[in-house]
Amino acid sequence: MHLPTVILLALATNFMVGLYLYLLYRRKPKDRCFKLWSYSCICFVLGSMLVVLRPYQLPELLSFFLADCLLLLAPVYVLAGLIQFSRFRFTKQRRQYGFMTLALVALLFFVSHPLPGVLSILVALAIAFTFCLCAYLLQKSIITEPTFTRTLQTVFLLHAMVMLIQAALVVMNWQHLNIHGLPESSVYTLISHILLTTLTALLLPWLSFLKLERKLTLKSQRDGLTRLANRSHFFTQLARYWQQHATTPAAFMMIDIDLFKTVNDTYGHAIGDQAISLVAKLLSKQLRSNDIIGRIGGEEYAALLIDIDEATALKVGQRLCQQVAKQLEFIGDLQVNLTISIGVVHVLPFKHDRTRAFKLADEALYASKQAGRNTVTLATYIPSP
Ligand code: GH3
Ligand code: MG
Ligand code: MG
Repeated sequence: MHLPTVILLALATNFMVGLYLYLLYRRKPKDRCFKLWSYSCICFVLGSMLVVLRPYQLPELLSFFLADCLLLLAPVYVLAGLIQFSRFRFTKQRRQYGFMTLALVALLFFVSHPLPGVLSILVALAIAFTFCLCAYLLQKSIITEPTFTRTLQTVFLLHAMVMLIQAALVVMNWQHLNIHGLPESSVYTLISHILLTTLTALLLPWLSFLKLERKLTLKSQRDGLTRLANRSHFFTQLARYWQQHATTPAAFMMIDIDLFKTVNDTYGHAIGDQAISLVAKLLSKQLRSNDIIGRIGGEEYAALLIDIDEATALKVGQRLCQQVAKQLEFIGDLQVNLTISIGVVHVLPFKHDRTRAFKLADEALYASKQAGRNTVTLATYIPSP
């Protein structure tokens, strides 16, 4: 294998990927990761170029100290770009520790740069450690695509391993190191390092695309005013429940704000909107986190209370009515006297049809309106004629 050709190809690829990442950043300046990753590629290219120039009598400060600092900065920039995809909290204090560690490592590089063997061990260990941190950040990733995050994690860990092997080779061949402070046998670890760096640079942009996809999916499922599931997502979740929990009893609930038109007409649409989101907030708070809630129309909500008996479902409905009447008597200084009406039907998915359940709950809601509002009506499931 002709090492200079491999290095040259890797440098050209990294340079192009770096340029591509920078163009992506210019297109989407909010995605800072693209800028950081393009810096990573550029640091790798510059560092490697300085390494290649070592036989040409450059000052050691450039061809060793600066070259190795740049080679370490490459994974550090990868790490910095990964932070926005992780649940890991990068507090001000942690950032300070990070900078202090980097400064300390740079000082170690500076002190040891006249000794190529020691320097190459330090660089390999520092790069290996940084890649382990990258894999750790992905462990807490917000990306819900396990195959992709696991692949990237494997690449990082593989890379860390390659760097550790390189450090071990230096120690084992201490008497036979070349001008780079590396034994001849490390040529394969070097090639692996270059290829893995290129592979990482090619994989990273996917993270941003997956994050965007997740954001858009979530946005398409939520109602803009209340952040509850919108109509279509509510019914999708309902269908999933019917399929996956056929034998778990549940209560289907239709909820509607009473005389809402009057609220709009008397206090204006802004207060109306506020009322809609306050009721949504109250429903989310009062129901359990695994219950399914959605805003299915203007001032109409639907909920599926999971694993519940009929009597408890009725009690929950009554509690919801009481809490809305109590907590939403006023919005700010305005006495709005908000109340809700509810229709409930108790179901067992494998026995009962969900479209029929929806219809029955709606009819029960209508009965609550007829009964004077601010009340709950319980329907019994009757199969359609
Ligand atoms: P009932 O007790 O019988 O349910 O009477 P209601 O006045 O609540 O029912 P109706 O269906 O006649 O009125 C619903 C009103 O809700 C009409 C519509 O203008 C209003 N509305 C629907 N969506 C929104 C919204 O997003 N914001 C606001 N402010 N009003 C909305
Ligand atoms: Mg209404
Ligand atoms: Mg209505």
